[in-house]
Amino acid sequence: LLNANERFFLIDCGEGTQIQLRKYRIRFGKINHIFISHLHGDHIFGLFGLISSFNLVGRTATLHIFGPDQIEELILDHLKFFQNDLSFEIAVHKFQHHRPATILKDSNVEVITIPLKHRVPTCGFLFREMQVPRNIKKEMVEKYSIPIRDIVKIKEGKDYKTSQGKTIPNSELTLPPFRTRSYAYCSDTAYSEDVIEIVKHVDILYHETTFLNKDKDLAAETLHSTSREAAEIASKAEVRKLLIGHFSSRYKSYDTFEKEAQEVFPETTAVNDGDVFSVSRVRGKSMT
Ligand SMILES: [Zn+2]
Ligand SMILES: [Zn+2]
Repeated sequence: LLNANERFFLIDCGEGTQIQLRKYRIRFGKINHIFISHLHGDHIFGLFGLISSFNLVGRTATLHIFGPDQIEELILDHLKFFQNDLSFEIAVHKFQHHRPATILKDSNVEVITIPLKHRVPTCGFLFREMQVPRNIKKEMVEKYSIPIRDIVKIKEGKDYKTSQGKTIPNSELTLPPFRTRSYAYCSDTAYSEDVIEIVKHVDILYHETTFLNKDKDLAAETLHSTSREAAEIASKAEVRKLLIGHFSSRYKSYDTFEKEAQEVFPETTAVNDGDVFSVSRVRGKSMT
């Protein structure tokens, strides 16, 4: 679950999603966009319970669902059998899984697909804030009595010329804008270096790691990643922080996952349901 600029995005939907949302007190009405990485049960079965719960509470806002090609058919079939009188519209947005594409963009955020290597068409998602204009210093507006038409230009980075013909440099008039923050989500996938360029320098990379390095043959066979492989992607992409999860139930303890990844990429944390990670807003140059 991602909260970007106070808008909530739900990424992947395992069974019992609506129960989890209630448990963590996430208001249903806040979720308007759902991104499905691939059509395996542990990543989509929760969607139908969630649609049903939204209907029960009388939702009216359109729900946007993004997913690989076959998702439309899957949703339409489900609705035909179980739910033909919804209180809200569902807008299904299909994407191709072969190359990265921008699938959502507005004044706050853009979402780009990350093609992954799995047994079925699969994409991760890169969420990136849009660059906002520079902030003008209020005291400068007063000091030079800057008219509104010039304020817009100054916010875009222009210098200001006073009525006496003196040029005031932009750096004196404005504060640098907030750095754009970014988060990348990579679901089940075999080790894929194609990911590196897309997730370069993100603030947080979540990368699923189903197996430990000692089972790397099994990981390769089933097109999943080991903990070490996820850390190698994080290291090569020079991300700020790596989160790992989705460990196979074949392991009795999950402690080793974090240790294995940290050997390659120290800034790694193994996540649990309900964990919250924040990226603070700072002024300055963006890395991405
Ligand atoms: Zn899968
Ligand atoms: Zn999975």
